[in-house]
Amino acid sequence: MRAFPVKMPCGSRYWTVLDERWEPVPVADRFLRELRFGRDRAESTTEAYARSVALFLRWCGQTGRDWTTAAGELGLFITWLTFAEGGEQPLRVVAGTGASPVRSTRRINRVLVAVRGFMSFAVVDGAAPGWVLGALYELASRRDLPIEAQNEDGSLGLRMRSRHRLSEPETNVDRASDAEIVALFMACRSARDRLIVLLLACAGLRRGAVAGLRREDMHFAPDNGVLGCDVAGAHVHVVRRENANGAWAKSRRPYAVPADFMVVQAYDQYVIERHEHGAGAASDFVLVNLFRAPIGGPMTPDAIGDLIERLAVRAGLARRITPHMLRHGFGSNLADAGASLDEIQMLLGHAHAGSAAPYLHPDTARLRAAVERVGTPRAIAQQVAR
Ligand SMILES: [Zn+2]
Repeated sequence: MRAFPVKMPCGSRYWTVLDERWEPVPVADRFLRELRFGRDRAESTTEAYARSVALFLRWCGQTGRDWTTAAGELGLFITWLTFAEGGEQPLRVVAGTGASPVRSTRRINRVLVAVRGFMSFAVVDGAAPGWVLGALYELASRRDLPIEAQNEDGSLGLRMRSRHRLSEPETNVDRASDAEIVALFMACRSARDRLIVLLLACAGLRRGAVAGLRREDMHFAPDNGVLGCDVAGAHVHVVRRENANGAWAKSRRPYAVPADFMVVQAYDQYVIERHEHGAGAASDFVLVNLFRAPIGGPMTPDAIGDLIERLAVRAGLARRITPHMLRHGFGSNLADAGASLDEIQMLLGHAHAGSAAPYLHPDTARLRAAVERVGTPRAIAQQVAR
């Protein structure tokens, strides 16, 4: 069992699962096509799901289980995922404390999400019996949910809750500090690289959105009415498209981020640099390869990540920096500057305000100031003074 990319005649791609004879597994293939084309998920999502479903089917094959009913024993699958190296070798039981996990709890939870999706699809598809859903999900009270998600009338409601989920350590994507962002910027050796750092750190774009930018998305005139756009001031549009370089804006809805003068200036300098290199005159992509083959070809999301890592090394920073840490820096700086959660949500292109919360890493001085603004209530202060 292995995950495998498929290119459709229209040019769209998705990932499927092939068996030992290199033939697609029919139910898995239908599920992954449904994800990609029915639910409009990214190619990279189908890749992650295909790899997870392939692991599940490989476990079933190795342990002689029927995949349509094996979901009843997901606990054993979790043990296998935790200790079976690459899933290639049959699991050997190791006595004592010698065995260390080969997959993180976060990775295993992602595999389980894909397996639940796959098995739910298989049940609806008629390929697996309905009771499998009961092995995957239990009914739970809605009172476990955040208050916003509970019934408005306060009545008892039920929901499906997945039975198998490992507890993960808290998410540890940190923000890049302002000092780190400045150091990255100073380590740039081209106008293009400076523009990339600013788009990540001062417009908060994801690396996929940066790589997917087209020239028509850059509205940097004071009045963009002639372009048929009613957003005032300089801004960048983030639009989801099918791109040859694999770039993909995660937000389903297009959104616009205001660009400050640093971004506008960096873009102007980059346009000159790109012209001087004679690179990609015909390309509609904003960010193209200037220094490595194929010259003029669109930069990939991975190339954006590699660039930020190289800049961090060149700048002598003590830790690895990812594009996502710059986006976290953007979100946190907005909050520290007093932006409200709904403003931050719009600027990060999130559909829900709650999605913005993990991006906020409040400055400790701001937390102290908040406590001091409240002050110790007088009654308590008087008690303590006695
Ligand atoms: Zn516009």
